[in-house]
Amino acid sequence: MAKLIVDDLDVNGKKVLMRVDFNVPIKDGVIGDDNRIVAALPTIKYIIEHGGKAILLSHLGRVKSDADKKELSLKPVAERLSELLKKPVTFVPSNEGKEVEDAINAMKDGDVVVLENTRFQDIDNDFGKRESGNDPKLGEYWASLGDMFVNDAFGTAHRSHASNVGIATAMKKDGKPVAAGFLMEKEIKFLGNAVENPVHPFVTILGGAKVSDKIAVIKNLIPKSDHILIGGGMAYTFLAAQGHKIGKSLFEKDRVELAKELLKEADGKIVLPVDNVAATEFSNDASREVVGDDIPDNMMGLDIGPKTVEKFTEILKDAKTVVWNGPMGAFEMPNFAKGTYAIADALANLTDATTIIGGGDSTSAVKKSGVADKIPTSQPVVVLHFNTLKVTNYQVLHVFQTSNLS
Ligand code: AMP
Repeated sequence: MAKLIVDDLDVNGKKVLMRVDFNVPIKDGVIGDDNRIVAALPTIKYIIEHGGKAILLSHLGRVKSDADKKELSLKPVAERLSELLKKPVTFVPSNEGKEVEDAINAMKDGDVVVLENTRFQDIDNDFGKRESGNDPKLGEYWASLGDMFVNDAFGTAHRSHASNVGIATAMKKDGKPVAAGFLMEKEIKFLGNAVENPVHPFVTILGGAKVSDKIAVIKNLIPKSDHILIGGGMAYTFLAAQGHKIGKSLFEKDRVELAKELLKEADGKIVLPVDNVAATEFSNDASREVVGDDIPDNMMGLDIGPKTVEKFTEILKDAKTVVWNGPMGAFEMPNFAKGTYAIADALANLTDATTIIGGGDSTSAVKKSGVADKIPTSQPVVVLHFNTLKVTNYQVLHVFQTSNLS
């Protein structure tokens, strides 16, 4: 990890802009669970105990209209933070303009300021969603408020918003340091360790449209995995490589040789679909049937079949580490979603495993399948937003605890 960590920085006397994840449940101004505030304390304390001025930015909830503002103000969070730190914390009811600049200029070393919810910027102006849309001007403005930037908001680290990517980009342009906080560091280490030194049996599940998108993942994980279950569109290039008929299924002709090599390298670890749900066209209403591992000429495989689900589920039962990247079929169409949801369900039924789910599609499949709530909270669920599992850049990673999946 070549990234700087907050304790690599000389924060003494410096204005340290910090992105935290204070997205806590709040009802009528009362915080339901302050875990996320507590989780940010080590980095905040480090900054102030080393003479830095901590300027905190966070989003809170989804801000859709002015009516949401009262409920989604960070004021109660700043008050709770003050209690936890046992020192005054200044809350500024805006995050741009003179009021903000005056509050920052008045800071002494060791002081803490919390600015108002960054997502108020999504509705406050005529320029569209400035925070969520990563308006570079907003990132530049926020970056101008500090001498350095610390990102400790792992939960939003996969998003490209003004308050993370925007600030980091502008800071770097100005030659100012950008670092990860301790929480971020911990999550990256956990994730890196889960994949680099997995608890066995380690099962990798790969799906989605293309082999070519996932070569790095496959190559990285073949030696580490005990089983590699392949479904989705990419399975058909592998089936073709084995000499099966794949009809009109997704197929990457220029990857057949690679698929053959990977099958050889994996030495029996790769498990392909033994049956498929095939349809005459790429449409939810197309006539469909379950076929074996040869697809009729006029049909395309759009989901794994029931026997494959059974086979994959059986293998998953004993897994202690699971990495899943890519859906098992064209799951956006309900008639071809069963296989993907069944896999989500199989993961939800694991009681003692670390599950790492990669890719926005797999994440949304888990959400849509409705099994998220069934995953025990003790079970770490990590969602990678990127399809290379080499943990080199914290900006592309995302950890969800179960509650965030729903
Ligand atoms: P990816 O971004 O590579 O994970 O691919 C996700 C997309 O692959 C989803 O939109 C799925 O609809 C699509 N997909 C998965 N399986 C199939 C399949 N058998 N045929 C066509 N598209 C598929």
